[in-house]
Amino acid sequence: MSQKPNKIIAAAEAEGLWSLYGLKSPEQLVLENIAMAQGIVVMDGPLDSAVARLVRSGDTGIVRISDRVREPGRRRFAIAHEIGHWRLHKQVTHLLACTDEDLVATALGNVLEVEASIFAGALLMPEFLFAERAAGQVPTSSTIKGLADYFGTSITSTALRFVETSNDYCIFVLSEKNRIRWWRASNSFGDHNLWMDSGTALPPGSAAACFFRGEEVPARPQHVDLRLWLGEMPFIQAYTIIEQAIPLPSYKQVISLLWLP
Ligand SMILES: [Zn+2]
Repeated sequence: MSQKPNKIIAAAEAEGLWSLYGLKSPEQLVLENIAMAQGIVVMDGPLDSAVARLVRSGDTGIVRISDRVREPGRRRFAIAHEIGHWRLHKQVTHLLACTDEDLVATALGNVLEVEASIFAGALLMPEFLFAERAAGQVPTSSTIKGLADYFGTSITSTALRFVETSNDYCIFVLSEKNRIRWWRASNSFGDHNLWMDSGTALPPGSAAACFFRGEEVPARPQHVDLRLWLGEMPFIQAYTIIEQAIPLPSYKQVISLLWLP
């Protein structure tokens, strides 16, 4: 098994299911039916620490989703993630138990978890449809909510997908306890040496930091000093960056979407 996640294969496998089953729109993507067609039964029930679990037995599998997962978008992501393990990791015969962290983080975590989450993002929000819906838009709160409604996905996975498929300069940052938990930049940043250390305190002047001070988070995108977030970026001809903060109070997290004006 390779050490680096194979993101291209993971996404291609997922989008291949759209052609295999002749799907045209997200409402046709009934995950329980897709799972069933693949030989997997999906059940909800109690799980100790995991959010979702796959047990493989020959050609059949059982996916259990924790009954603590209430938000429909998160549940869909969890099922899609387990279908990803099923399709991509046939060599793993033991039981796979996936935590909340495994389910979203395509930036950290082990190779199998990253691949299953890339698969899930691509299955729920295939690039051909997502690019069409997101074309010409910037990732404001209302853009992300609109896309999440259309695709039946969580705010977090939708915001991440926006950045992953964007042709512009934009960045997804997830913060917790006033610190950067993890982040992802669009491909445009390429080799520009952009780096943020996980665990770094949020810039006090950022919109996201308001949430952790108990202040009202600006609902609209804000211009923020670019250096506060990114440090010196000589290749960028701008002094400010736009930040849309989206609080997720039930998870005590904030998403910041950053893009150039
Ligand atoms: Zn997993």
